[in-house]
Amino acid sequence: MILGGGFAGVSVARRLEARLHPGEAEIVLVSRENFMLFTPMLPEVSSGELDVRHVVTPIRSQLKRTRFILADARKLDVAAKTIEVAHTLSGEVETLAYDQIVLALGSSTSTFGLPGVAEHVFALKTLEDAGILRNRFVWLLELADSISDEAERARLLTVVVVGGGFTGVEATGELVELFRSVLRFYPHVRRQEVRVILIEGGPTLLPGLPEKMGRYSAELLRKRGVEILTGDGVASADATSITLQSGKRIDTRTIVWSAGVKPAATLADTPLPHTKRGAIVVDGDFRVPGFPGVWALGDCASIPDGSGATYPPTAQHAIREGPALADNLVAVLHGRPTRPFRFRSLGMMASLGGRKAVAQLPGDRVLTGFLAWFLWRSYYLLRLPSLDRRLRVAFDWTLELMFPRDIAELRVYTRNAQSSAAADAGLPPRTDPAAHV
Ligand SMILES: Cc1cc2nc3c(=O)[nH]c(=O)nc-3n(C[C@H](O)[C@H](O)[C@H](O)COP(=O)(O)OP(=O)(O)OC[C@H]3O[C@@H](n4cnc5c(N)ncnc54)[C@H](O)[C@@H]3O)c2cc1C
Repeated sequence: MILGGGFAGVSVARRLEARLHPGEAEIVLVSRENFMLFTPMLPEVSSGELDVRHVVTPIRSQLKRTRFILADARKLDVAAKTIEVAHTLSGEVETLAYDQIVLALGSSTSTFGLPGVAEHVFALKTLEDAGILRNRFVWLLELADSISDEAERARLLTVVVVGGGFTGVEATGELVELFRSVLRFYPHVRRQEVRVILIEGGPTLLPGLPEKMGRYSAELLRKRGVEILTGDGVASADATSITLQSGKRIDTRTIVWSAGVKPAATLADTPLPHTKRGAIVVDGDFRVPGFPGVWALGDCASIPDGSGATYPPTAQHAIREGPALADNLVAVLHGRPTRPFRFRSLGMMASLGGRKAVAQLPGDRVLTGFLAWFLWRSYYLLRLPSLDRRLRVAFDWTLELMFPRDIAELRVYTRNAQSSAAADAGLPPRTDPAAHV
């Protein structure tokens, strides 16, 4: 039984399908969505460059003989070897038994308990988050174009991104691109009125990566009009402002939060050993010590790297951990010894928009500018899990070279327009229970 259909869970299932003979074991994967999300392209979805559907791949189409269950994993009983799930669509609750369980539930946004933050920021972690953000950007431009209250216009046209890691930096670059592309449609919004502010608590952008990458990113984003505040953390937020630890207050109606993630909360109530942050502690072969039959990997696990540290929570690692865990699971089923997981990071890349990026190459070498951007695009295009998604994304990128980004705001306008159209026709208002992003 595998819990979680992200990079880690799906790669475990795929390898188990390849390594186990039909009939040898039943492979079951439980996930709350029926698709796998390609997170590295999420900032581009939030800015409207990529279509939401193009960065997800249905789980069923990636697996041949795994039983897929669309459900939320709720309660794990390691003594009874059962997991309680609630089916996503029907809400029906069911208890499933397992022999071996693989925890691959990923992570969720962390707002560190800061006052007002959870209630007022926009996260960038799920597909829904990216869709909501895109609509928010269009909403704020539409509203700013139509009102005369100068103070409210200024709040609307100020977007604050919190977190100068690769997600925050990419989201900022994409946001600048979005405004550059669509401001021509808003005659009452002047370019100099739009403020994009990036806040990083540490001294430089892209902490943990070679200093040159952070420096280049900051210089480039500043050149493109972004205000960068480093060395100042967030103290609190409300509906119209954000306050920093220095006491500085910024009036804004939109705060994008990419300041951190925490391991999935579902596992918090289990007796499994975990770190202070809540990650499940495993041995080098992904087994949870003291709990036979329980395995964990990906963002929800703390996996020793053999040097006293643990592997970072990235997709790059998750897709390599999956096959390694599956091989160890098969080894245990066949009575053979397991092997510790060893992998050296290939480096990290961040796209900055405007056909520029920064890339860390093996040996801590750094590539910047157009070449890094070309590498970023080629690498991630090839990493998309299916040919049709690669073609769709390549098509979106090609269209973007020729046309401005789409400013049709799907969620709010279609719902309002639909009820007005229904009223015009004398029909009762109708809502779509399956309405999504
Ligand atoms: C915006 C963004 C950009 C990123 N860019 C990069 C990048 O460029 N390179 C890189 O290497 N990494 C990147 N990452 C990090 C990367 O996405 C994660 O490290 C990776 O997704 C971890 O894989 P995972 O399978 O452990 O978790 P996830 O991919 O999060 O998958 C977990 C799955 O479990 C499901 N799930 C969670 N709880 C439950 C439950 N209770 N019941 C049922 N299902 C559940 C979720 O819906 C999800 O499908 C990025 C992350 C974000 C948010």
